[in-house]
Amino acid sequence: MIAPDVSTAIATLRELIEMSRAVVPFTGAGISTECGIPDFRSPGGIWTRMRPIDFSDFVASQEARDESWRRRFAMQEQFGAAKPGRGHQALASLYRARKSPGLITQNIDNLHQASGIAAEDVVELHGNTTYATCLDCAVRYELSWVKERYDATGRAPDCPACGGHIKTATVSFGQAMPEDAMRRAEELTLAADLFVAIGSSLVVWPAAGFPLMAKRNGARLVIINREPTEFDDAADLVVRHDIGSVLEPFIAMVRTNA
Ligand SMILES: [Zn+2]
Repeated sequence: MIAPDVSTAIATLRELIEMSRAVVPFTGAGISTECGIPDFRSPGGIWTRMRPIDFSDFVASQEARDESWRRRFAMQEQFGAAKPGRGHQALASLYRARKSPGLITQNIDNLHQASGIAAEDVVELHGNTTYATCLDCAVRYELSWVKERYDATGRAPDCPACGGHIKTATVSFGQAMPEDAMRRAEELTLAADLFVAIGSSLVVWPAAGFPLMAKRNGARLVIINREPTEFDDAADLVVRHDIGSVLEPFIAMVRTNA
């Protein structure tokens, strides 16, 4: 069913949530756009104007690392100012009410953790851009530490402990998917009796695999996205309205029930 309007979408989603015991959200860029985080892959998005730096280039070239960090610091104003939106708050409410064991996200903005979901219950398929790690020894570095060195030399610093390259904790184009995150995402998907894909076009691998995995495992499937997706025919409910407006009532709903 495609929800004809926002109020039908909210009413139907409420019924589905009430009859479920394990709601597993799967989120993409669309949930964060109201927070000022741009959708990099959308038309006019950054990747349509600027070629992303491939992981192999990052590893091979100091210039690529310098450019990669220059771009990251240029986006800090947006990332640094972003606060969880209505969608994040609604999902955090479901989590606090123990309706949702955790969620899977394609986003790298840390906003689910900022909304109150424990870091270990947020499965990040594409990593996290709000901190950095050494590619060799995995030691964590804060962005402020990297920026200080970058500003002083104009170059991306290497790890003082082991000499490895330091990169935001994201999964770059050409970089292997994190096995642990993939395994936990599969576990969550198979634990779901209601799988809710939110703000993802569901075209980027491996995002596309999870809704169908949930559906085949017997879960109900809801897709909330501005544009149609390939999986709309398989969904029990399709919502093509503004994510924040659709999810906002669930902030209050769970608070009063909890
Ligand atoms: Zn290191």
